[in-house]
Amino acid sequence: MKRIVILGAGESGAGAAVLAKVKGFDVFVSDKSAIKDNYKKQLDDYQIPWEEGDHTLEKVLNADEVIKSPGIPDKAPVIQQLKAQGTPIISEIEFAGRYTDAKMICITGSNGKTTTTSLIFHILKNAGYNVGLAGNIGRSLALQVATEHFDYYVIELSSFQLDNMYEFKADLAILMNITPDHLDRYDFKMQNYVDAKMRITQNQTEQDAFIFWNDDPIVSEELKKYNLKAQLFPFSEFKGNGAIAYADKGQYTIEAPTPFNMEQDALSLRGKHNLYNSLAAGITAHLAGISDEDLRKGLSSFAGVEHRLEKAGTIRNVEFINDSKATNVNACWYALESMTKPTVLILGGIDKGNDYSEIYDLVREKCIGLVFLGVDNKKLHENFDSFGLPIADVTSMKDCVKECFAMARPGAAVLLSPCCASFDLFKNMEDRGEQFKQFVKEL
Ligand code: ADP
Repeated sequence: MKRIVILGAGESGAGAAVLAKVKGFDVFVSDKSAIKDNYKKQLDDYQIPWEEGDHTLEKVLNADEVIKSPGIPDKAPVIQQLKAQGTPIISEIEFAGRYTDAKMICITGSNGKTTTTSLIFHILKNAGYNVGLAGNIGRSLALQVATEHFDYYVIELSSFQLDNMYEFKADLAILMNITPDHLDRYDFKMQNYVDAKMRITQNQTEQDAFIFWNDDPIVSEELKKYNLKAQLFPFSEFKGNGAIAYADKGQYTIEAPTPFNMEQDALSLRGKHNLYNSLAAGITAHLAGISDEDLRKGLSSFAGVEHRLEKAGTIRNVEFINDSKATNVNACWYALESMTKPTVLILGGIDKGNDYSEIYDLVREKCIGLVFLGVDNKKLHENFDSFGLPIADVTSMKDCVKECFAMARPGAAVLLSPCCASFDLFKNMEDRGEQFKQFVKEL
């Protein structure tokens, strides 16, 4: 019996284990950290052996194939050993893809993945499609393939998942943008990260569609290197330059495969970045055969996603906005760009190789104060001290919200869009966003 070893027992690993078991493999799960109780129970329910706290090498190195959690870096010793002995290492999505013939709608990009994925799911689900949501969001694809039957999957794919995908093919592939992120995982070489993102197009045929942001300079350059067979659906803010969908003069327009038009004001998501997300989602739903009426309804009824430019309350005419998910500079750029009020901006956390010069102009134009929320704020000071804005350093969300409120004046906004990961002071970006909302409520 073929032996499958799963490294990492989070959502994707535990799901992959269940699918492998259901498909009759000899399965073993190994996690170097503690496994959460709900995943232990899931593994026990399916009588899948597991270990936590370490990898027992003799139980791992005898695998015929390894499914690796996207969180485990390639330089981890166990991965190096598996590679050295030639054991195939794949991602959970690659594995699950082997066992379903559902149409795969896959979304990647440096920013906008979750919003676009959720929006596509919302539109299709509301139109009555038999559709599952997977990838970085919600339940793993593998678990759903093991236990349910869907005609469509809408899947959010990170570069880490794409790294270990080989035979998998997206029927509809969506690439939102490519800007620097996670460079620490790619030897600080941008091209390595770009190559991972471009894998979204791999194995696509003439029957498939590739939907991408036409104005992204990196994607445009990359496309010259590829001879893609898929049908191309570029979208843009502006009409022209080959874009088949755009938002021009207040109108949201899709030209192909059939024309579709609605007022831009009727879109539920606001901000330029969300326009791109709405265009990508609209083309995709259109290609999936949705009616114009359902598309219009879906695009205008989406409630948005938590921690992405989420309204966190207005206190004495100061508006608080939670964009905790902005863990890179580009995401913060779009958040600032969408601000219409004088803004106190919260920056800080774990810097992943940020180049803050990208937001200099917007900070000058829109900000009335900066609050640095991190254990080490040195780089932020080096970048922003010369701007002459009031600056405060804080190491807790409670103090952060207090400082922001003190800096803000009536009619201003406070924006948590920190450009950085959250792990220095918080469990994760959700914890950072939740605490922000909580302390705003307590003001
Ligand atoms: P991801 O899943 O790729 O991290 P999200 O939809 O969760 O993307 O959004 C992450 C952050 O990026 C948010 O702060 C949001 O305001 C910003 N953002 C959303 N869509 C885009 C886009 N198309 N381009 C740039 N930034 C975006």
